[in-house]
Amino acid sequence: MSHHNSVSYWQSNTQILPLSTNLPRTVDVAVIGGGLLGVATSYWLARAGIQVALLEHHFPAYGATGRNGGFVRAGSAISYPDTIDQFGQETARAVMTLTSQSKVLTRQVVEEERIACEYREPGSLRLALNKQEVEQFKDEVILLQADGFSAQFLNQEQTQALIKTPIAAEIIGGRFLPGQGLVHSARLVQGLVEAALRYSARVYQTEVREFVQQGNGILLHTTSGDISAGAVVVATNAWTGQLLPSLSDIIMPEREQMLAYAPLPPIFSTGVTADCVTGEYWQQTPDGTILIGGCSSVAPNGDLGVWETQPTIVVQKAIEQILPRLFPSLAPLQVIQRWAGTLGCTTDMHPIVDRVPEISHAYFVGGFTGHGMPFGMRFGQLLAETVMSEIMPIELKPYRLDRPTLRPWSTV
Ligand SMILES: Cc1cc2nc3c(=O)[nH]c(=O)nc-3n(C[C@H](O)[C@H](O)[C@H](O)COP(=O)(O)OP(=O)(O)OC[C@H]3O[C@@H](n4cnc5c(N)ncnc54)[C@H](O)[C@@H]3O)c2cc1C
Repeated sequence: MSHHNSVSYWQSNTQILPLSTNLPRTVDVAVIGGGLLGVATSYWLARAGIQVALLEHHFPAYGATGRNGGFVRAGSAISYPDTIDQFGQETARAVMTLTSQSKVLTRQVVEEERIACEYREPGSLRLALNKQEVEQFKDEVILLQADGFSAQFLNQEQTQALIKTPIAAEIIGGRFLPGQGLVHSARLVQGLVEAALRYSARVYQTEVREFVQQGNGILLHTTSGDISAGAVVVATNAWTGQLLPSLSDIIMPEREQMLAYAPLPPIFSTGVTADCVTGEYWQQTPDGTILIGGCSSVAPNGDLGVWETQPTIVVQKAIEQILPRLFPSLAPLQVIQRWAGTLGCTTDMHPIVDRVPEISHAYFVGGFTGHGMPFGMRFGQLLAETVMSEIMPIELKPYRLDRPTLRPWSTV
């Protein structure tokens, strides 16, 4: 691995099996990218009896999935009221419904395939740090409840009751979403790869350089030779524009950083978020390790357009200030690991699933803007159905390229 790379807590605590580079000549479906999206799509295709080859440049969970906060929280990257404002109530409700279904699928598949990935559903807590946030959270809870989704506003005392260390006076309330999930992201991916292999999927390590129409199918040029496929699913997220240059102004890379603290006794059982700097998030794993990330806005240009996955001092120092500020009685915290990952961002902070422009039987997914985990299992299932039927299901309509809110980055 080059010195420009870093390794996450999840990656260094997962046994990742080596992959073959010996590609077959032909396959029914080629899936490109071994993050949650590519792996989930391959899993559902293989489970349906389709001959699928997953092609991953490095190793499963190399990208954003293996470096993230491990939150599986229903909804989009923006708040429910903001989603309604931007996309309308029908789409906001559809996003909540799809991501809630996806969470149920995650739980079911983890159980059925016996994937040891610490998946649990303790809920997700967002801390209110000022009166304006209290009002925003109260509105959000009312709108979510009105549409039939569970959400609770918590006062200071109720917020304190969820956290086993005294909270700072600036925390004056919270918004709790019951039943939201947390996961060991790299073990989820590795477990899905192993399940897909049991259903006869094949998984290879290779970089796809480009692909072109070839008769009714597609010819892929890779660093390990050519492979012909009947259909292709591109699930390369931040890297989408490298493979599909017409989308390089639509999905933009952004560096996002995290760190891990040495294990402490149980303090946080839920996922926790707070808008201290940019939107910070942390979870405590079952072994007591605390993983926290965020603060990208203190980096020059918010780390937008940055490919390197080296952590930087300025962002790491900002992250280190969050927990001591919010929980002044915490025992001294000892950083044991630092890393960064690459998000794929869209201008409207909403993911994309669509056909690849100009190529038939080719689809792509990406642009989760830091919030892909709650979409993964259901998008993978819908993409598998799309490949098999050649019809894009109605559930994917809100995520298509032609939506009016989606703009090229160069125009914003
Ligand atoms: C620090 C950080 C924290 C985050 N926290 C959360 C969180 O708590 N909850 C949440 O929901 N989301 C979070 N996200 C976002 C989440 O990780 C992503 O939305 C999600 O993992 C996207 O999955 P993916 O499969 O689309 O992409 P990725 O996981 O990035 O996978 C893409 C894969 O494609 C491969 N690839 C790229 N190009 C090629 C090629 N040409 N040929 C072959 N392979 C290729 C890459 O090597 C990579 O493995 C976070 C992201 C980061 C970086």
